[in-house]
Order: sequence, then structure tokens, then C-alpha cells
Amino acid sequence: MSNPLLVASDLPSFSQIKPEHIKPAVEHAITACKKAIATVLKEKTFTWDNLVLPIDEVDDSLSKLWSPVSHMNSVINSDELRDAYESCLPLLSEYGTFVGQHQGLFEAYQQLADSDEYQQLDIAQKKVIDNALRDFKLSGIALNDDDKKRYGEVVTRLSELSSTFGNNLLDATHAYSVNITDKSELAGLPDSAIEAAAELAKEQEKQGWLFTLDIPSYLPVMMYCSNPKLREQLYRGFVTRASDQGPNAGEFDNSDIMNELLKLRHELAQLLGFNNFAEKSIATKMASSTDEVLGFLENLAVKSKAQGQQDLNEVKAFAKTEFSQTDLQAWDLPYYSEKLKQSRYAISDEECRPYFPENKVVSGLFEVVNRLFGLQINEISNIDTWHKDVKFFEVFDRDNNLRGRFYLDLYARAHKRGGAWMDDCKSRRELANGDIQYPVAYLTCNFNKPIGDKPALFTHDEVVTLFHEFGHGIHHMLTQINASGVSGIDGVPWDAVELPSQFLENWCWEPEALAFISEHFETGEPLPQEMLDKMLAAKNYQSAMQMLRQLEFSIFDFKMHKDYQPEPKNPVYIQEVLNQVRSEYAVVKAADFNRFQHGFGHIFGGGYSAGYYSYKWAEVLSADAFSRFEEEGIFNEKVGNDFLTNILEKGGSQEPSVLFKAFRGREPEIDALLRHCGIKG
Ligand SMILES: [Zn+2]
Repeated sequence: MSNPLLVASDLPSFSQIKPEHIKPAVEHAITACKKAIATVLKEKTFTWDNLVLPIDEVDDSLSKLWSPVSHMNSVINSDELRDAYESCLPLLSEYGTFVGQHQGLFEAYQQLADSDEYQQLDIAQKKVIDNALRDFKLSGIALNDDDKKRYGEVVTRLSELSSTFGNNLLDATHAYSVNITDKSELAGLPDSAIEAAAELAKEQEKQGWLFTLDIPSYLPVMMYCSNPKLREQLYRGFVTRASDQGPNAGEFDNSDIMNELLKLRHELAQLLGFNNFAEKSIATKMASSTDEVLGFLENLAVKSKAQGQQDLNEVKAFAKTEFSQTDLQAWDLPYYSEKLKQSRYAISDEECRPYFPENKVVSGLFEVVNRLFGLQINEISNIDTWHKDVKFFEVFDRDNNLRGRFYLDLYARAHKRGGAWMDDCKSRRELANGDIQYPVAYLTCNFNKPIGDKPALFTHDEVVTLFHEFGHGIHHMLTQINASGVSGIDGVPWDAVELPSQFLENWCWEPEALAFISEHFETGEPLPQEMLDKMLAAKNYQSAMQMLRQLEFSIFDFKMHKDYQPEPKNPVYIQEVLNQVRSEYAVVKAADFNRFQHGFGHIFGGGYSAGYYSYKWAEVLSADAFSRFEEEGIFNEKVGNDFLTNILEKGGSQEPSVLFKAFRGREPEIDALLRHCGIKG
């Protein structure tokens, strides 16, 4: 067969995959999956080997085929690819519903769960079966035929809506730019941002400098450009993306999509017997009730409020005395905040940039995980990828055994979704012949690419982002669980999945680690002690204000889903919830035209709906886990090994609370997080 998606191969042949291959391959794979289910169900007595393994085998083929397609849709988007991708979404959600509501399959899993064999299975295998039974219930196995049908329709529509939300946001982000031809309008901007803007203009055959709504282009303007007009222009463009406001008002408007998403999520939750979608969300999470989640968030907000207000008052006072600015607008705040930070700590993100060249940062990251977990990481060249800038690596453990491999795609470019993330290309599992399939990960960032003959230079924030994503990467790659569905990040509750990622960030702040993560790209000297002292002093600058911002997003997301009422119809419900949450918790007043929610891809376009709180929830775990390293040594081999064997290797095979306790020796406590953030509470 000439379809590269249907050729069994070790790694996807990205350069061979064309949009026209996608739908036929997905149809072919789904047919194979359904056939395998029918064959399996001819058995009378169900066992791990005759039920779970064969279904796993075909499901794995489908996910390995879909993974590169979905990844390419995110990182080299085109109209043709997008159409092909979207044409498969209904097929995939129909298949998901077919499996989730398959009575025969459900009874087979139930029979296995009730059997003597179940008692003999290991913890991970039992978890696979328990999760399967839970997921049947969450897919409406208990519903009558009409409700099952409705469930399927709703799920399919939800997946379309999320995809459209993301498309609108991507298109809106790229539809707006500001072209500057008079250099005096760029006063205050660092050279790196000016050079990048000149490069962007050149790429689009424009004069002067071009600024876009991609973060590496947008953020330096907000922080450094002393021209308020440019800041305002870009700010308006950014916070009104895909909405009814701003320069492209109405053109990519997500308003109706968001309302329909909420309505259908609520309907889905009620179909399944939950009161609201927030309840459904936590059915698969570590948190045990919606009250527990809101109580947790509100407690943090209360502890941060006074200090957050003080953070804001200080910027206002500073702008007034130093710059005679009395009425700070939303687009002024990051600028004066940065100015205050510089005056107080005499340091800016840009000054650190020359000390973080790509090669040093990446090799320093590898050194950190070598010291912590004994990993050896080697680059492999001549691998078929989706773009020439992408690199590929192999990960070996202390005993020189292969653990996993990953793609590293660091730079921002057109047609690539913004932000940073880790995704799985393949998961660890044991094959029918006893061999192990090793995990493969995608690590994606959006940093500035090298300009001229200079290496790519990162800000410290970007270094932290890279460590974060790599933390997800090692969670996925180091797993020793062979039962698919609970190996690596698979099956880890979402409110615990950020534990390893936020955990690894901590080493970006440790002098002992920074000594080998940093090196001036011209002089070769490591980050000077004096600069490091300033960075550490500045670390918790405005931390309470930032904490409140994250809590505002989390509470908004959770309340909006929890309190939704379908009747009476209220087209401005989302805005009302957001306004109410802001009035209660935010210290910074949002501009009237601000439509932040229309670009909140995590909850409308991705899987974090009624789950954005997960970041803060997991941060408690990661801060508390790191505090054991603070107590016993940040490169303590025994503690590193305990984290490896109790958390990273276990994947989703056990409840996170159990794994955490095994590592820490007690339940998680909130104190370490507050202490790390410098919040006195
Ligand atoms: Zn993350």
C-alpha cells in the first residue's frame, strides 16, 4: 500500500504524509479496530490476553497513525491539512462512542473484572480494567438507546466546536500585525526584538519592522517599548482575538461557539447523571468534589489578595513618582512593572538572554536529568521530521537501557500553534510477542530562532518553559509500566499531570544548576553571581499578582461550568461570570473591550475545561515534592531515585495521592508553594 500512514514503521514518515492520505488511513484503521472487537467478542471466557491485548493492539495502531496527523495540524498547519484533519474528527468521535457504548465489550470487561484472573493481575493491569469500566459509564453505557444516540451527537459536535475555536484563534492571531517604518517608534525595545521584527518584515516583503500577536513578537513590546501607541495597538489586537471587539471584530468571532460548547457540555454531564460539567470533569481527577476544588482555589486567593493589591499599588506609585503617570491603562502595566523591576533589582529578562544560548541550555538540561536520574541523552541526525529545524534525541538510563526518544521543535514560525507543549507520538507498551514498544514524545516550544550567525538566545522564562515541557517528557518516556493506557502520561489524572513538569522548573533557579545551564554566547563566562543574585531576588516580584491572575482564570473556568443553567438563555453568561470573578478576586481592572476568554484555548479548544485549576493543584504537589530536595540536597541521588521510581516510572498505574505519599512520606501540604512564591498569606 502506498499510503505512508498505513505502513508499519518505527517512526512516522512526516515528509511523506500528504493531506490526501489522512482520511482513507483513518477509515481503514477504524474498520480494523471494529473488526478486532468483533473477533475478540467471539470468546466465551475473557482474559487479559484474549480481550485487553488484542484491542490494545489495534487501538494503538489508530493512535500512532493519528498522532503525527494531529501534530502536523498544530505545527505546520495549512488549509488542506486542516480540512483533512477536520474531516476525520467526526469519524474518531463516532468510533469513541461506538467503543464507549458497546454493550458486548462492556460485559466482557465486567466479566474479566469479576473473574479469578483479575485477582492475579498486577496493579497496573487492574487499573487498566477499572479505568475501562469507569470510562464505559462516562460514555453512557447505562443510557437508553435514544440517550445513547444523543450522547454520540453531542460528543461529535463538541469535538468540531473545539477544533473551530482553535482555528479561529490561530487565524485571528495571524490576521493582525503592525508594520512600523519609523524606527523612533520603537524606542525602548531591545535589539533582539528589533532584529526579529526586521526579519519578520523582510519575510513578508515589507519595509521596516513587523510586529505580530505571536508571544515572542508581542511580549517585548508590552514590556519594553516606551511608545504607548504601539503598546495599545498590539494590546487591543491581542486581547480581542477571535471576538466581537478589536481591529478584526466579528471576523473570527468565537462567541457563539463558546456558548454552544457550554450548553452541550452541560447537556452531556446531565445525560450521564451529573449535576453539571464541573462534576463530570472531576470524576476522572484527583480532587474529590467541586467544593474541594473551589475551596482550594478560594483559600489561595484569600491568602494572596492583600499582597497582590500591594504589588499593584507599588507599580502605580512608582509610575506616578518617576514618570508622572497617574492613570495606568492595561497596556501600561507590564511596561511600568518591568521598569520598577529594573529599578529595584537592576535586571531585565533581556540582559540575561546572552547567557542562555540554545546549545548550553539544552545540554545543561540534559546534565540536570543526568545528575538526578542518571539519564544519557544523544542526538540522532537524519531523522525524517516535519521541519528542518526539528531535532531528535534518544534517552538511555543509568544501565544504558533505551527508555524513550523525542522530537524537539523549539522555534516560533508561521502556521505553528503558539505556546509550548508536550504530546505523545507513541506510548510504552508490551507487545503480544513480549517485546517492548518504547515511548516517543514531541516537545514543542515557540522561542525566537537564531538570527544571522548568532545562536538562538533564550530568556530565563523560556529556559523555565523548556524545563517544564521536558518534565512532561520524562514522565512520558521514563515509565516502566507496560500496560498501555496507564503507562507514561496516559491515564494520569489531569490535576496531577503537571507535577513532574512544574517540579523540573525548580532547577532553573538553583545556582548549582545555573552554573552549567548558562554561558555567555560570546565570552563563554557563566551567569555572573551578581546577576544570579539579582534574578533570585527578583524571582517573586509581583508573585501575588500573578498568583491571583492564575486563580482568576481557574475560578472563572470552574464556576462557569459548575453554575451553568440552560434556561433562561443568557447570551452574555460567560462575560457575566468572568466579571463577577474579577470583581471578587482580581486586583488589576480589565479593559472593557478585553475578551481574554475568546482566546482561552485551554478550556474551549483543549482538554482543560473545568480543569484549569489543575495547574495550581499540581503546583502544590510539585512544590512540596521539591521541598524534599531542598531538605536533602538538590542533586541528592537517593531522592532523585525515589522520585524516579515512585512518580515518573509509575505513570497512571496508581492514584497520584498514593504515589505522592510513597515519595514524600506524608500527604501534600500547601506551605512549600506559598514559601516558593514568597506569599506570606
Ligand atoms: Zn504543562
